[in-house]
Amino acid sequence: MVLASRNDAKLVELRRILAVAGLAVELVALPDGPDVPETGATFAENALIKARDAARVTGLPAVADDSGLAVDALGGMPGVLSARWSGLLPGAGRAERDAANNALVLAQLADVPEERRGAAFVCAAAVVTPDGAEQVVHGQMCGRLVRVPRGDGGFGYDPLFLPDGQNRTSAELSPAEKDAISHRGRAFGQLAGVLRELLAI
Ligand code: IMP
Repeated sequence: MVLASRNDAKLVELRRILAVAGLAVELVALPDGPDVPETGATFAENALIKARDAARVTGLPAVADDSGLAVDALGGMPGVLSARWSGLLPGAGRAERDAANNALVLAQLADVPEERRGAAFVCAAAVVTPDGAEQVVHGQMCGRLVRVPRGDGGFGYDPLFLPDGQNRTSAELSPAEKDAISHRGRAFGQLAGVLRELLAI
């Protein structure tokens, strides 16, 4: 099976989740080539676009995910625009983009009181087989945004995000702690069940 991503961290994470689910499947990274544009209006559409392309290019069953942060006070944005919210394009370094995105969201929410700082990380995970079978599942992690970034683990908006029931931001959780409650952990966990059925493994 191919993962429609060239992000090594995602490959490692999904391998770990599939192993925990007991699935005997070898997961490989997408071979080098042009990135398919993520033109979808929703996380599910983008995950399907990436999985369809990877299945077509490789002839293998393909899985893909798309994720982002939905902020209540911003009407659900940055949503599918999470990675490029500040306007810095993927050509800029990841750390630089993450810092600019976080600074912009904090500035946008500067006057928003505690009770309206709710947000959720959302992940759609899609599987597409070469014969055209498709399925999408979702996972989410609800919480709220703090005013001062905390922690140096994770990536992206993690230093701003306090998951419900936690007193540490998701950048202060260990990878295993984050997996257990995260949008991606939940979506990939469900995907394991879908794969077992769809691929009869
Ligand atoms: P992608 O699905 O890896 O392309 O992620 C899209 C963007 O959403 C990332 O660049 C981050 O800004 C944000 N994002 C998605 N998942 C997370 C997470 O687990 N923590 C922090 N930010 C995330």
